[in-house]
Amino acid sequence: MVVRQQWFLLLCKYLQMLKTISKNKQFKINRINLTNNMGHKKVCLECRKAFSIYNNGAEEVKLTCPQCGVKVVLMPHRFRPPKKEDIKQWSLIRFLIENGFLYQHVYENHEYVKYPSSMDEAKEFVTKFKSQAVPIKG
Ligand SMILES: [Zn+2]
Repeated sequence: MVVRQQWFLLLCKYLQMLKTISKNKQFKINRINLTNNMGHKKVCLECRKAFSIYNNGAEEVKLTCPQCGVKVVLMPHRFRPPKKEDIKQWSLIRFLIENGFLYQHVYENHEYVKYPSSMDEAKEFVTKFKSQAVPIKG
């Protein structure tokens, strides 16, 4: 009988834990949605172009390129797109995006880390800050 009670208590604890986890998850998702709609740029890697989004969060943002129709990537407003002709910089950006770095803030010792400006730096960067990469939505 005692054993059974202990089991029950354990089960309750476990369920409580699951509840907390899913709550945290929800909170995270809400936050992403909110920031996605505020002060962002749509970036098309095919056209090598950035489009500013003017949206108060009420409207759904169409995530396709107005120019070529390919799926765009959402970047923070502070992202400064290189010139269309600057293939080198654009391939660097593509590399960072593919590794989960969409110009979100990356931290080291509670300080912002500067984004890399060369491919060599970028390779080091994505390895070093792997734990801060964001999952890319397919
Ligand atoms: Zn495009």
